[in-house]
Amino acid sequence: MVKQMKTHILGFPRIGADRELKTALEAYWQGNLSQADLLQVGQQLRAQHWQLQREAGLTWVTVNDFSFYDQVLDMSALLGVVPPRYQHEGGVVPLDTLFRMARGRAPTGADTTAGEMTKWFDTNYHYIVPEFYPKQAFSLSSDKVFQEVTEAQQLGHEVKPVLIGPLTYLWLGKTKQTEFDKLALLDQLVPVYCEILRKLAAQGVTWLQLDEPILSLDLPEEWRAAFAPVYQTLAETGLQLLVASYFGALADNLQTALQLPVQALHIDVVRAPEQLLPVVEALPPHMSLSVGCIDGRNIWASDLNQWVQRLTQLKQQLGERLWLSASCSLLHVPVDLAAERRMNPEIKAWLAFAVQKLRELQVLGVALAGEDDAIAHSLQLNAAAIEARHVSPRIHKPAVKQRVAEITPDLSERSSPYEQRAAVQKRQLQLPLYPTTTIGSFPQTAEIRKIRFDFKQLLMGREEYERRMQNEIKSVIEQQQALGLDVLVHGEAERNDMVEYFGEQLEGFVFSQQGWVQSYGSRCVKPPIIYGDVSRPEPMTVAWSQFAQQQTKLPVKGMLTGPVTILQWSFVRDDQPRAQTCLQLALALRDEVLDLEQAGIKIIQIDEAAFREGLPLRRAEWDAYLTWAVKAFRITASGAKDETQIHTHMCYSEFNDIMPAIAAMDADVITIETSRSQMELLDAFQDFDYPNEIGPGVYDIHSPRVPSVEEMQQLLIHARQRIPAERLWVNPDCGLKTRAWAETLDSLRNMVTAAQRMRGEEVKHCH
Ligand code: GLN
Ligand code: ZN
Repeated sequence: MVKQMKTHILGFPRIGADRELKTALEAYWQGNLSQADLLQVGQQLRAQHWQLQREAGLTWVTVNDFSFYDQVLDMSALLGVVPPRYQHEGGVVPLDTLFRMARGRAPTGADTTAGEMTKWFDTNYHYIVPEFYPKQAFSLSSDKVFQEVTEAQQLGHEVKPVLIGPLTYLWLGKTKQTEFDKLALLDQLVPVYCEILRKLAAQGVTWLQLDEPILSLDLPEEWRAAFAPVYQTLAETGLQLLVASYFGALADNLQTALQLPVQALHIDVVRAPEQLLPVVEALPPHMSLSVGCIDGRNIWASDLNQWVQRLTQLKQQLGERLWLSASCSLLHVPVDLAAERRMNPEIKAWLAFAVQKLRELQVLGVALAGEDDAIAHSLQLNAAAIEARHVSPRIHKPAVKQRVAEITPDLSERSSPYEQRAAVQKRQLQLPLYPTTTIGSFPQTAEIRKIRFDFKQLLMGREEYERRMQNEIKSVIEQQQALGLDVLVHGEAERNDMVEYFGEQLEGFVFSQQGWVQSYGSRCVKPPIIYGDVSRPEPMTVAWSQFAQQQTKLPVKGMLTGPVTILQWSFVRDDQPRAQTCLQLALALRDEVLDLEQAGIKIIQIDEAAFREGLPLRRAEWDAYLTWAVKAFRITASGAKDETQIHTHMCYSEFNDIMPAIAAMDADVITIETSRSQMELLDAFQDFDYPNEIGPGVYDIHSPRVPSVEEMQQLLIHARQRIPAERLWVNPDCGLKTRAWAETLDSLRNMVTAAQRMRGEEVKHCH
C-alpha cells in the first residue's frame, strides 16, 4: 500500500449528494416517513461518508459530525440542556423533542416555541442557541455519539469522534430569566464532559476532536484563562485530544492554545496563512499539529504543488507530528462536483467540492510521505488547472480590471450633501409626511413560481413569460394604489432569489446544479460562484421597473441587490481580495442605477441585507471591512443625480456598533428590521444622530399575524421620539415574498391607516 501522512477532516456535509437528508426529514415531519426509515437514511449517509473518507486513505473517519438537525443542538441533547418548556423529564432526549427544540413542532409532542437560531460564526450555517437557566444542571442525555462510534467501528473504520468543546459550547449559549456568568457553569459542565470522554475511551476510541472555534475570536481574559484548567481535567480521562480552532487566526489566543495539555492542535491556515510558521516555531514537543490547508469554506481546487513545497520543510521538522486537514468542517461546501454534468468543463476543472477535497488531502498526504510517483499524474493535472485558471481569458477581463484601477474619489460622492438632495427630492416627489412603502417583494404565489419554472425549462416562450409577468406587475401596482401606499414597488415576481437573479445576468458568475450547502435544518442554499471579473453585458432590471412605472403616476422604486450582499451570499474568488470583487460588482450595479434613472425611475433601492453579517470576527478587522464595504455601496449609488432618491434596506437589527458606517453609506433613506425587537434598535439613535431618512419596520413579516393599527401607531410614536417626523418612513420590516396575499393586504391596510393617523396628529400639533 502507498504510504500516506496522517490526514483527516473536521467534518463532512451531512445532507447527502442528492439532499437525501432534506427529503427524508421533511417527509418525516409531514408524517409521510416513519422514524425508523428516517434513522435508516441517516445511517446510510454516514456509511457513505465514512466510506469516502476511507477510500481517500484518511487516517480516521470523523464520527458525530452527522446530525439530523444541528451539531450544537445535538450537544445540548448530549449534555441534557433542554429548556423547561419542552417538558423533558430526564433520560435520553427523544428525537421528536430535539425537533421541537429546533422548530417548535414534531410528529409527537406539543407545539412549543422553538429555540432561537443564529449564525455559526461568520458562516451562513445557523445553529440552535443553547439556553442556560439559573441553577442549570447537566447530565448525559443522548446515545448518539456512542452509537455512531459503534456503527463506524462495526464497519471496520478507525474512528475519531468530534464534539463541540466545553468553552465554545458555553460561549454560544444564552442565559435565560436572569443574566449570570456562564463560566460559573463549568463546574457542573466539565464532569459531564469527563463522563462522555470516559465512555468513549471504554469503546476503544483513542482520539477525540474537540472543536473550540472561539479560539479565533477576541476573548475576554476570564474565558482565555478558563481553558487550561478545563482541559487539564479532560486530559485526565486518558483520551488523546485534538483541539480544533478554525475560521481565523489564534493570534492573541496562541499561548492559550499551545499551553493546553492536549496531544494535537488544529489550525486554519487558509484564513490565516500567516500563523503557520509562528505556530510551528512555538509548538511544544508533545503536540501534533493538524494543518488546515484545504479550504473548507470555498469551492476552489487547492494549489497542491505549492502546498507540497511549503509543507516539505515542516514535514522534516515535525515528522509524524504533522497532520493534514481541511481548514474547517466541509459542512460549508457542496458535496460532490461529479454531479455537475452541465457545468462548463474548463470552469469545473478549477473547482473542488467536499468529495474532491478528500482526494486533495490524499494527494497531499501521499506526496509528503515521499511517494511522489503514485500521485505524479494528479499533481500534474492540478498544476495545469491552477495555471489555466491563473491566465484564463474567461476570468481575466482587462477592461474590468482597468475600470477598478481607475476609480477616483469622486465616484463615491453624490453631487450634493444630503440636506440639499433632500430639498430637491421633496419638491420632485411631493410625498406626504410619514410616507408609506414596502421593501420590494410581494407574495410569491405558486402560480408565479410555476410561470418562472416553465420559462426556465423552456416550456413557456419569452413573449408569453413577459406578458404573464407584466400582468402580475399591473395587479401588484393596482393593489398598492388601492391600499393608498405612497411609494410603490413592482413586486419582484421575476426574481427567484435576490442574488441569483443578478448573478445570472452578470458575467463572471457560474451556477451549479447540485451545489447545495446546509443553511439550517433541512434548509439548503445554492450560492452562485463568482469565478471571474464581473461585468454587466446589459441592463438587468430596467424593463420591469419601467413597465411598472408606466402603470402609475406614483413613484415606483427601482430595486437592486447591493454589491456587498451579492458578494456575501456567493462563493467568491480566492485569487483576489474580496474588496476587489466587491468593487467590480459596485461598478456593474452603478451602471444599472444610471440606466434606471435614465428610464425615468425616481427612487432606487439598493438592498444590503447582508451588510452586517459581512463583519469580520475580529474587531481589529472591522474598520478595513467597513471601509471597502461602504465605499462599494457609495460607488453603486453615487452616479445618481440629486433628485434621484437612493434607498437601502438591511435585515437584522444589531446595528448599534456600526451606526457610523451605516450613516457613511449616505443613502437618502434606509429601511431596517426593528419590529421584532419593539424598536429596541432605535436606542442606537439615542447615542448616534442618524442624519438621513429612516424607515424602521413597523411590523414583522416573518409571521402571518396581522398587526393592529394601534400597535403600529404606538411603534411610530416611539420612533418619532428619536427620529424627527420629517425623516420618518413607514414600512414593513422586510420583503413580503414569503407571505400570503390575505394577511399582506390586511397588514398593509392597517399600516397605511397608522401612517394617516400620525399625519392627523401632526396637523393637530401645528394648529
Ligand atoms: N427587496 C427584497 C425583498 O423585498 C429584500 C429582501 C431582503 O432584505 N432579504 O424581497
Ligand atoms: Zn430584509
